[in-house]
Amino acid sequence: MKFTQPKLPYAQDALAPVISPTTIEFHYGKHERAYIDTLNKLIEGTEFADMALEDIIVKSEGKLFNNAAQAWNHIFYFFQFSPDGIKEPSGKLRDAIESQFGSIEDFKSKFEEAGATLFGSGWVWLAADSDGKLFILQGKNAENPMTQGLRPIMTYDVWEHAYYLDYQNLRASYLHKLWDIVDWNVIEMRYGE
Ligand code: MN
Repeated sequence: MKFTQPKLPYAQDALAPVISPTTIEFHYGKHERAYIDTLNKLIEGTEFADMALEDIIVKSEGKLFNNAAQAWNHIFYFFQFSPDGIKEPSGKLRDAIESQFGSIEDFKSKFEEAGATLFGSGWVWLAADSDGKLFILQGKNAENPMTQGLRPIMTYDVWEHAYYLDYQNLRASYLHKLWDIVDWNVIEMRYGE
């Protein structure tokens, strides 16, 4: 199986000014692309060649894990945004967030803080267990909650390449602005409304 890079469901300038067209050009066009290209080269002729991407992530390590997880993480990241998405969670997901974190605002603050305080490169995740309990997790480098048996629901990329062109060193500002483009309809579907 050859993995192909999915086209973005919005125009390259659609997320500006939160994420600029230049950042999309490099982050989606070069970084995500390179992870998928490298993944395809690494699995060619191996036991991983016909596996689903999620299975590769759970069963691999080292360079293959890094490229497989980074490919998955970036696709997941870019597909949760929309210029005209639903701005607030509702239903079961809203209930779970409010009962576990107090309020939507409290949840957002905790999520931003987890992203801002992650040392080095990585991802901040919202993940759920099989009972629907939510977890905010910091993942270093390419880490993904599915390797701990949890289901990823949302993620913010905190590698410098995700924000440096638009926010320079201000990672916290980037994290705060991302709420303007998150499409909660996508997040709710991932949670299982
Ligand atoms: Mn990235």
